Amino acid sequence: MEMNVFWEEELETLSLRDLKRLQLRRLKTAFGYASQSPYYRVMFQRLGLTADSFGDIEDIRKIPFTTKDDLRSHYPYGLVALPLREAVRLHSSSGTTGRPTVIFHSRHDLASWANLVARCLYSVGVRDTDVFQNTSGYGMFTGGLGFQYGAERLGCLTVPAAAGNSRRQIKFMRDFGTTVIHAIPGYVVRLADVFREMELDPRRDTNLKTLVIGAEPHTEEQRRRIETLLGVKAFNSYGLSEMNGPGVAFECTHQTGLHLWEDAFYPEIIDPDTLEPLPDGNTGELVLTSLDRQAMPILRYRTRDLTRIIPGRCPCGRTHRRIDRIKGRTDDMFIIKGCNIFPMQIEKILMKTPETGNNYLITLKTVHQADEMLVEVELKELFTDNYGNLEKLTQKLYQEIRDEVLVAPRIKLVEPGSLPKNDGKAVRVVDLR
Ligand code: AMP
Ligand code: ZN
Repeated sequence: MEMNVFWEEELETLSLRDLKRLQLRRLKTAFGYASQSPYYRVMFQRLGLTADSFGDIEDIRKIPFTTKDDLRSHYPYGLVALPLREAVRLHSSSGTTGRPTVIFHSRHDLASWANLVARCLYSVGVRDTDVFQNTSGYGMFTGGLGFQYGAERLGCLTVPAAAGNSRRQIKFMRDFGTTVIHAIPGYVVRLADVFREMELDPRRDTNLKTLVIGAEPHTEEQRRRIETLLGVKAFNSYGLSEMNGPGVAFECTHQTGLHLWEDAFYPEIIDPDTLEPLPDGNTGELVLTSLDRQAMPILRYRTRDLTRIIPGRCPCGRTHRRIDRIKGRTDDMFIIKGCNIFPMQIEKILMKTPETGNNYLITLKTVHQADEMLVEVELKELFTDNYGNLEKLTQKLYQEIRDEVLVAPRIKLVEPGSLPKNDGKAVRVVDLR
């Protein structure tokens, strides 16, 4: 491939028929690798599955789902499909509870991953003339090295600033003329605050034009706010360590859903309760199969992320199907007073309210034997309450949230900067029940 050309036109615009053919071929290869791992070998033998069991990509349904618990109970080597000498790196997922899950990569896997990330960046207009600054932690978390190698592959000048130290981040942006940054949404908001503290305006005092945000759920309303705060275009980046990390699905410049790279991953949407496949357009749990990994292919992985496949074609010409922004994770959902609630339903309301700031926290607790949902939200700025404005705002949020989630919340408006700050993935819900 010619250096720096990451519009892989032939692959990215394959006809549906050719794409399915490629997927089937790659599924058989992935199946072959997987059969060499202790976990899948036993499974395939038990079910009598061989590469010939797959005549069509939809035959993938013959393979049982793989879950996070399966990865945990076969930690660390149970799904490794190559001799360890051929593995050159491992990463783990950012989950903070229970045993970690670890994913192994061969040289081939790392090269293919870097290409996918380069393809994503190219699709939003990033070129080798750009300066790319990565604010992700470099280490076991895939957002660091994943973007590092992708941006290098594309030919950007990279600034591996890593997480934290916002003043230093901003100094780097100014010194090196950073044009593109990658950050978690919660951290962008924090950066914007530090710009203000330093009396700098990102529009005037930096060359920033593109922001890549991902790694955690966020709403369209939050994205629009972030774009305004920094004066950039912000593109949604989706990935998970079990499928490499970043570079699984990415918005193109049309910002109408995230193209999921179907030459590398096969997507399915299922009903998380019945486990039945759902047709395009319906929201359910995303299930992914890695089609181009060798060291540790994972087949029909239940991501626990809720989304839908957006029917229809994207004006950009890419034929790979688009997923909608992640609505939440099945395990983020909480139940209070019999209602199922996703934090994003509440975020949406808070973020479209001009008077509220960017940080919020939902606390669930039991008060006098009844469950209560407390929504604390920072105000954008402190204002004196001469005309009962705070009271009116509290009442407005109360009604809008109650109408959306069908549970009456307790609303508490708090001072700007008073809620816990998020340098990593944000904690939105604390359950004290
Ligand atoms: P990890 O494997 O630790 O990198 O975490 C992956 C998880 O982060 C995914 O399964 C999603 O739940 C979440 N995630 C990653 N990117 C996004 C995104 N763009 N929007 C929403 N959630 C995301
Ligand atoms: Zn597109």
